[in-house]
Amino acid sequence: MCLLSTGSRVRVPPGSPNISFVFNENLAVIVRYHDFLTLIVVNSAHMLRPIRRHVTGCGNYKKWDVDCPPNTKLKCPLIIVRYEPGPNGRKIRKEKSLGTNDEAVAWQLINQMVVSGETKPADPPKTVEQSIDLFLALEAKRGIGEATLKSFRKFLRGNPKRNPNGNFSPTLLEFAAKQNPARTYLKDFTTDDLTNFRGEWRVHRHALKIQSERLKQFFKFAHDSKWIPENPAAKLKPPKVKEEPVYAFPKEDRDAILHAVSEDDYLLTLNLTMRYSALAPVDIVHLKPQNLHGDRIVTKRRKTNKRVNVKLPPVVVERLKALPIQAGGYWFWNRIGKQSKHETATGNLRRMMRPYFEKASVYQRDEHGEAVYEKDEDTGELRPLLATLYQWRHTFVHEHIMKDTPPSRIAELLGDTLKTVMETYAHFIEERQAQLDKAAERTWNEEELEGFRI
Ligand SMILES: [Zn+2]
Repeated sequence: MCLLSTGSRVRVPPGSPNISFVFNENLAVIVRYHDFLTLIVVNSAHMLRPIRRHVTGCGNYKKWDVDCPPNTKLKCPLIIVRYEPGPNGRKIRKEKSLGTNDEAVAWQLINQMVVSGETKPADPPKTVEQSIDLFLALEAKRGIGEATLKSFRKFLRGNPKRNPNGNFSPTLLEFAAKQNPARTYLKDFTTDDLTNFRGEWRVHRHALKIQSERLKQFFKFAHDSKWIPENPAAKLKPPKVKEEPVYAFPKEDRDAILHAVSEDDYLLTLNLTMRYSALAPVDIVHLKPQNLHGDRIVTKRRKTNKRVNVKLPPVVVERLKALPIQAGGYWFWNRIGKQSKHETATGNLRRMMRPYFEKASVYQRDEHGEAVYEKDEDTGELRPLLATLYQWRHTFVHEHIMKDTPPSRIAELLGDTLKTVMETYAHFIEERQAQLDKAAERTWNEEELEGFRI
């Protein structure tokens, strides 16, 4: 509450700051002079105020002291006009750029000038968009790889050519605009905002870890460059990433699942096809009769863009041929409407399979074959995690490794790289080695060896 009238004075403790604010479109300044406060209201006709300097593309180009046309998105830069004392008592008119086109920021800068007595406006804070653009430009100049740059662009402002209706995670720019109030300046972001932002990402596992690191890098850069006074990402904890266990369905689980779905032609064919093709759910939903060449499935993997060509047992081929084709020409995706996303289709498969995994009591296992439990957030009770269709792929690999198919051939069948296969399935390869060692041991002739003891 301001109890001062213009020019009145009030005694204040030493060290009190100057305060300024806009009052009835006039700039009011409370100025401390020794230990008095004085309220000064500057008449708007003489005060410093933001004025648009219209650029050539603006409908009001060359017009003075008017705002940009209301129907345009373009907002021209704001300037101030000051009169400085010149020779012979004349005044020299000086225009100074405020470095912003945002009126609220412009007023802040002017208030700072009036209070501090500075004749030059301070640098305006950087908007989210300015920060992102500058960061990307500086990183590009620094010569970082195009792939890294692309991955930064993806979550900061999105690929310029991406489908505006695509099912993408919101970019930092979109997230900022969506907040209430919108986060206009990069300095507006809090650690909570960043946690919420990360919560909206549709990336998982390893990709989530990487992108989270990139988000931290961006804010650290902004902080190091003094664009923001504090780094809201400094306290951001790494995301909790649940690495899905890689295990194969043991025989009793395989039997139980196939038995549980045996009455449902669609689900039985789905499970058998996944079991013998090793296709991931995303590739399964894209399968069409055109991908069946005789007894082989030939398709391109979504994730790696690699071609796979895998032979199916005759029983599975017959079942596939007998399966009705759904909207869009797919076997396992009823794609009504072109807008329908494959994430919806794989989500539907997951939901459809849930009661069957429950009925069959097939749960996720860790790499030692033990069931994996999860804590119920409400009751705190431990409950076993239901298995997923993805495990058919691992089961396929497990069987090939146990039958000594070379890893390079397995990579080919999976549409993956040898490196990924060797890393992902290292424990299967060890298991096979242990099995071979046991077999080797069984051939040792103890009687013969006994005679050669030292
Ligand atoms: Zn303009």
